[in-house]
Amino acid sequence: MNPSFFLILIRSLMKKCPQCGKGKLFSSYLKLYKSCHICNEELSVFRTDDFGPWLTIILAGHIIVPLILFVEQSYAPDLWLQALVWIPLTIITVLLILPISKSICLAILWKQRDK
Ligand SMILES: [Zn+2]
Repeated sequence: MNPSFFLILIRSLMKKCPQCGKGKLFSSYLKLYKSCHICNEELSVFRTDDFGPWLTIILAGHIIVPLILFVEQSYAPDLWLQALVWIPLTIITVLLILPISKSICLAILWKQRDK
């Protein structure tokens, strides 16, 4: 059975295998397993390249920039305080989103494999 695209996206948000939804995708932070340990689906053939970082920049930018603008317009804190808050928050946000972005990219490529 071929899972729906919505189900594959949900699985990718959880960093799980697009085929079975149970096996883990990553052996470390961004390193993909060669194949799923549950269903043996080949994962190493999908090259995500720069799509994951690109998607991460888009998503993190749409999260962080509105927050920065809101805080600046509402409270106008000193620049040193903003740098102290926003730089680490941006780095943490990017590090949290990057594996999910790579997983989403893999899911999209996996869904397109038969076409
Ligand atoms: Zn699997």
